[in-house]
Amino acid sequence: MHSFRTVVCVLACALWSACQEKTVPPSAATQTASEPVAPKVLATSAPTLPAAQPPPPSIPIAPPTVVPAHIVLISFDGTRPDIAQAARMPTLHAMAREGATTWTAQSIVPPLTLPAHTSMLTGLAPEDHGVYWNQWIPAFGPFRHPTLFMLAKAGGISTAAFSGKDKLAYLFPTGSVDHISFPAPDPSDWMGTNIFNARRVAAQATNYFAVHKPRLMFVHFPDADFAGHYHGWPSAEQFAALIECDAALTQLKAGIEQAKATNVLYILTADHGGNGLSHGVDRPADMTVMWIAWGAGVRGGHLLTNQVTLPDTAATIAWLLGLKLPANSIGKPVNEAFQ
Ligand SMILES: [Zn+2]
Repeated sequence: MHSFRTVVCVLACALWSACQEKTVPPSAATQTASEPVAPKVLATSAPTLPAAQPPPPSIPIAPPTVVPAHIVLISFDGTRPDIAQAARMPTLHAMAREGATTWTAQSIVPPLTLPAHTSMLTGLAPEDHGVYWNQWIPAFGPFRHPTLFMLAKAGGISTAAFSGKDKLAYLFPTGSVDHISFPAPDPSDWMGTNIFNARRVAAQATNYFAVHKPRLMFVHFPDADFAGHYHGWPSAEQFAALIECDAALTQLKAGIEQAKATNVLYILTADHGGNGLSHGVDRPADMTVMWIAWGAGVRGGHLLTNQVTLPDTAATIAWLLGLKLPANSIGKPVNEAFQ
């Protein structure tokens, strides 16, 4: 009797097992073929899978207390914070002291000019914006994600951009900004000498601001990166380049004051640092950048305690201007920097 029961049980188990083997693949196929069934199967078979869960709703952030009349975002290309702190940059140092500052903000991987500025101006991670190349390659087509400047312009906010490198024009396609200035692209420029230096960029920005007073302005100084690639991070030439950048900052700030603009916010940051003659690797020398907020609504003399990353720049400006970044933005407003 026992042996008969055992045989029946073995047969039943074998049959059940065979049925399972047969039924599993069609059920799996149903998951991909039929959308309504898929969530049920996933929910019962793998209830703890984080990938199957919808993203949590974003926590509402209180609107800013002071809304700046003008925002000037200045990117000091390739400026490593420890080198900037050691360089003769009295204006930048004063703004860092008087404003809300961190010397340990983080770039994105890879810490290269075009990918990093893309994250800075969109709030997107590289895996979402997809810009891993560091040259403007027309064959790759126009930039396809909304930048802070596109959103601002669509929202009726006046905008302008002044870049020392032609490749950043990739992020400002036609119609996305009221005015842009950059060196004419030169495909034969393999040495990377086709730049507008900081003083020239600052002069262009100052002249434009005097007439048009844009509400949102992007300014890019290439000098420290240029000196780094030719002479090193750090080098005497790079320290000299940073003195030039500080003079350009002083010139721009004075020009904006002369234009009688009030309630101006400055954000000073960089796309990446560097070491030796290069950058682009996930290491502190390349990844660490400064992030300084100074002016309208800024909590003065404050050393930021929360970690700031490059995409937070776009999120902060979007928050201040009441713009909405795409849902997949990883940037968070640095509201700690404001009163
Ligand atoms: Zn760069």
